[in-house]
Amino acid sequence: MTSFIDSHCHLDRLNYDSLGSLKDILARAESKQVEKFLCISTNLDGFDTVSKIAQKYPQVFCSAGVHPLQDEYFKVDAERLLKQAQSERVIAVGETGLDYFYSPENAQWQKEALAVHIEIAKQVNKPLIIHSRDARKDTLELLVAGGASKVGGILHCFTESIEMALAAIDLGFYISFSGILTFKSADSLRDVASQLPLDRILIETDCPWLTPVPFRGKDNQPVHVLEVARVLAEVKGVTLDEIAKATTENFHRLFPASL
Ligand SMILES: [Zn+2]
Ligand SMILES: [Zn+2]
Repeated sequence: MTSFIDSHCHLDRLNYDSLGSLKDILARAESKQVEKFLCISTNLDGFDTVSKIAQKYPQVFCSAGVHPLQDEYFKVDAERLLKQAQSERVIAVGETGLDYFYSPENAQWQKEALAVHIEIAKQVNKPLIIHSRDARKDTLELLVAGGASKVGGILHCFTESIEMALAAIDLGFYISFSGILTFKSADSLRDVASQLPLDRILIETDCPWLTPVPFRGKDNQPVHVLEVARVLAEVKGVTLDEIAKATTENFHRLFPASL
C-alpha cells in the first residue's frame, strides 16, 4: 500500500480557522495516503505544544530545537534542550542551522546554536534537522567540525546547489524538498533534484509556509506534500508510487524509531 510521509511540518502553527481542527487536517491527509508526520519544534518554550501533539496522535512524531530565525537571540539553554531531545516521541534534533539570507547579522549566534544542537544530537543519538539558507560553506564546515555524520539528518527545505547536496549526502544526510520544488521559478532546483539519488530524498510541506502549486494563495497543510511528490516523480521520470515507496523507506531508514 502506497503511503507518504510529511517529513517537516509545523502542526502547531496551522491556520485552524480556515483548515479546521488538527484532527480534521490529519484525517484529510490520511484520506490521501499521507500517513506519517514529523512535527518540528522551533523554540524551547514551544516544545510542550509540539510534544503534546505527538503524544496525542500515534502517527505524529516530533523534534526538539531552536530555529536560526528565533526572535530572541539568547544563548540556547543546552540543558533544557537536552531534556527535550531525550523525551518520548522526539526522534530528531532541530530545526537548527544557518540563515544568512534573512538574518546575516546573527551569524555568530546561529553558528554557536548549531554547534550546541550537534553535540546534543550525538548525545541522544538522534538525527539533525538542518535549515540552511545562503550559508552553504559555513553549514558544511560546522557539520564536519561537529562530527554530525555520526547521527546524520536532513537538510530540510533544500534550495541550494548540487555541490552542497552531494557534500551533505557524503556526510550521511538526506535532502528534503518542499513546495518550492513546484514553483514556476524553480527550474534550477528541479535540476538539482533530477541529479540526486532517489534513496537520499525526502519530501515535506514545511506548512504553514510554502504552499505548493496549484494551491498558491491558500493555507498550506500536510496533504499538499502530494504536490511535491508529483513534481518529484516528473523530475525523476518515475511513478508516484515509486516516490512514495522510496521517500517512505528513506524516512524509516533515517528514523527507525518512527516504525
Ligand atoms: Zn526551516
Ligand atoms: Zn520548519
